[in-house]
Amino acid sequence: MGLELKNLYDDFRDGNTIKAYAKIIKEDAKKLKNQINIMEVCGGHTHTIMKYGLPQLLPSNIKFIHGPGCPVCIMPKERIDHAYVLSMVEDVILVTLGDMIKVPGSNGSLQDARSRGSDVRFVYSPLECLKIANENPTKKIIFFAIGFETTTPMTAALLDAVIKKDIKNIFFHINHVTVPEVMRELIDSRDEHVDSYNNKIDAFLGPSHVSVISGSKIYEEFPRDYNRLVVVSGFEPVDVMQAISMIVKQFIEGRCELEIEYKRLVTYDGNLKAQELIERYFDKRDLFKWRGLGNIPKSGLKLKPEFKEYDAEIIYKDILPIGEIEDHKLCICGDILRGMANPPECTIFGTACKPTSPIGSCMVSSEGACAAYYKYGNLR
Ligand code: SF4
Ligand code: SF4
Repeated sequence: MGLELKNLYDDFRDGNTIKAYAKIIKEDAKKLKNQINIMEVCGGHTHTIMKYGLPQLLPSNIKFIHGPGCPVCIMPKERIDHAYVLSMVEDVILVTLGDMIKVPGSNGSLQDARSRGSDVRFVYSPLECLKIANENPTKKIIFFAIGFETTTPMTAALLDAVIKKDIKNIFFHINHVTVPEVMRELIDSRDEHVDSYNNKIDAFLGPSHVSVISGSKIYEEFPRDYNRLVVVSGFEPVDVMQAISMIVKQFIEGRCELEIEYKRLVTYDGNLKAQELIERYFDKRDLFKWRGLGNIPKSGLKLKPEFKEYDAEIIYKDILPIGEIEDHKLCICGDILRGMANPPECTIFGTACKPTSPIGSCMVSSEGACAAYYKYGNLR
């Protein structure tokens, strides 16, 4: 039998291996002095944890907290409104990634904008903008760029191609965010409105894709300065169970370290070429607003000033709305993203708010905590 892609994953989804890890964790957890709360900061992990029912396999003194892992969920309405307004400009084609088109802003989602006549397209790779620009030479293509360190190099690669090919009709609205800054915010906020000192996070499950790009080095400060251990984990259920087992062992042995479970793809240094590409084109913003979490210092990226001719936020600044927008008053996405509440605690979970009619962002993307609970939590 030839090797197929699905066979490569089989071992990492094997029920017996998952159960064997559950047994080891249960035995080890008897030696824990206190309950441990583990926050995953990757939407892919949230999805795996819920899909494979991992919380039910763990002893009662080990709990998951679902953090701000999905780039769609953390996008504030103000930025979605920017995309909406840009999409309504007559000669603009607005391009973005996947689920972003379903997130409601204050005027509706990008999907709504499309039904009102604007040209909104979604792509799997930013480089698809090159083809769209080539086929529509009289239009302005604005790439509404979202995502963590994972997708930032792809946006940088698109800009690199635009400059090298001297393409005149591709522009960028940058909404890239970075992971260490939000992890720091969750345990050591400088914002007087956020009671981060009351957080319940004992350990972090480090994200998968992000760490492939940035390397595990970006988490060094957490065990060192904040006494929070980090284990970088792969996506599959066996990966997550192995990472949990590594976390429990650290607690039992009194260690607080940065470790990598996902050794088949993550190194300490990460992908240096991708990091160089990010450095070349992006600067840190002083502040970036995260939905439900507020303004987080140095957590967002923007184009460097020398690339301002490609920056849609500068070119269209006169038409982009600037006011602050409140979220729906019943939505507790903010508490969920801070690990202070679980989706079923929201009074409109599964009733007024469902994947087909999302009110908050955590219900939109399949990586969002509310959507994962709705699909796999067996709670409706
Ligand atoms: S992009 Fe990858 S690493 Fe980042 S949140 Fe999504 S699944 Fe996790
Ligand atoms: S169920 Fe909907 S309204 Fe409630 S927190 Fe989740 S996304 Fe927000």
